[in-house]
Amino acid sequence: MKIKIHNDVWKVKLVDANAKKMNPDPNSYNFGLTEYKELLISIMDGRSESVTRSTLIHELVHAFLFSYGHTVEGEEAMCDFFGVHGDEIIDLTDQIIERWGDRCLQSKK
Ligand SMILES: [Zn+2]
Repeated sequence: MKIKIHNDVWKVKLVDANAKKMNPDPNSYNFGLTEYKELLISIMDGRSESVTRSTLIHELVHAFLFSYGHTVEGEEAMCDFFGVHGDEIIDLTDQIIERWGDRCLQSKK
C-alpha cells in the first residue's frame, strides 16, 4: 500500500522471508528494510503480529526521519527503541488523555 509522509509517497509491502535483498549479509537477520531512493519499506512476511508491528514502527521511524529531513545521532537505536516501546507509549498516552478528556479541551480555550 501507499502512505504519505510529509511530501513523500512511500510504498509499504510485505515480502517473502527468503527475498535476498532482506538479508544479503549472512551474519545479519533483518525483518524490515527501508530504501530511501525508492521510497520503499519492505516488511518480512509471516512473522508474528508483535514482531511485524515493532518492525513496521522501526522502519516508519526511519522513513519519518528521512522525509522530514531529520538527522539524528544513533538513528538505529532510536528506531529500535520506538519499535519496541512505541505502541506502549502511544497506548499510555491515549489512556491518560482519555482520562483527562474534559480538562484537556478546557485548557485549549
Ligand atoms: Zn533500522
